[in-house]
Amino acid sequence: MNSKIWLSSPHMGGNEQNYIKEAFDTNWIAPLGPNVTGFEKDIETYLKEDMHVAALSSGTAAIHLALVQLGVDIDDEVICQTFTFSASANPIIYQGATPIFIDSESETWNMCPIHLEEAIKARISKGKKPKAIIIVHLYGMPAKVDELLAVAIKYNIPVVEDAAEALGSTYKGRKCGTFGDYSILSFNGNKIITTSGGGAMVCNTKEKKKNTIFLATQARDEAIHYEHSQIGYNYRMSNISAGIGRGQMEVLDKHIKLRREMNTFYKELFKDTKEVTVFTEVNQNRFSNHWLSCIIIGENAPFTKNELYHKMTEANIETRPLWKPMHLQPVFKNAPYYGSNISETLFNSGLCLPSGSNLTKQERERIYRIVESLK
Ligand SMILES: *Cc1c(COP(=O)(O)O)cnc(C)c1O
Repeated sequence: MNSKIWLSSPHMGGNEQNYIKEAFDTNWIAPLGPNVTGFEKDIETYLKEDMHVAALSSGTAAIHLALVQLGVDIDDEVICQTFTFSASANPIIYQGATPIFIDSESETWNMCPIHLEEAIKARISKGKKPKAIIIVHLYGMPAKVDELLAVAIKYNIPVVEDAAEALGSTYKGRKCGTFGDYSILSFNGNKIITTSGGGAMVCNTKEKKKNTIFLATQARDEAIHYEHSQIGYNYRMSNISAGIGRGQMEVLDKHIKLRREMNTFYKELFKDTKEVTVFTEVNQNRFSNHWLSCIIIGENAPFTKNELYHKMTEANIETRPLWKPMHLQPVFKNAPYYGSNISETLFNSGLCLPSGSNLTKQERERIYRIVESLK
């Protein structure tokens, strides 16, 4: 049996273990230390725009702390892109609030600004103004940022930017993860860089960073004893994980280049295939890190989504349907939804293909042969 080709697997740069060794040598085996501070600095430098970064235990924890700081509480409503991973929406439930799901537009597959405004108007007319808007840059593709922020500003609703999949992507030359009132990143094992598990909050003020760290470390008031006037969380990143992150930051741009080459590989592979389209940027305003390369398979394509999926699986190659929209998930079946059927159609016709920065020429060759056999 050929070895497994993964959708997206960890790809170490080489220096990670040096940072970890340093942590051991200096006994910084804790959810704080020089690697945490260093990793935060590295991300701040990378993102530019004078951002303030707090390293956390996961991207989900970062979304949760964003909602906590925006005052999202029981019976509030929070708007969220429906076409996403469940982690974008789960923290709304942690706060006892209700998610209001919004469909995508077909250019970027992210939140549709028209349905967003429709939803806000409808919720206000029902007597409740949404407390926050969670936008996502799915698969690394920057959303319609200007249009979405214009709606958010018009109704004065804060934005949580879920850039978990979009580190290194840019919109009009500015990095994703710098557009929200709070923005979040993820360093889970399958993301563009990994700390084995981890995330970050990106803040536009020092105070927000300070408060994020305060909440992430059990909300201890200043006192000699342990004094608490707020509920806290244990969400800080460990100094070991952050060491992996520092090594990964050294190779981030190189890995983005390789992921983008995978996207180009698929564009070449499918360029003459009827009704198979590779998801890519519509114009120069966007630069996607192409975290995952995805294709849409039309009804008249030479193969169906299931055929390709099964052929790949037989050959020990991982592929996966696109995210199933949240409004179609059993767990969110009672949540209000505004949109048409864009995300549903994407889910029904799309497939994610192996996209790692570590795929070898031989592995690409294996993928190529399967696809050619189906054409
Ligand atoms: C991975 C991911 C998250 C959650 O990040 P974790 O670090 O795994 O908690 C949130 N949103 C999106 C869109 C993601 O892909």
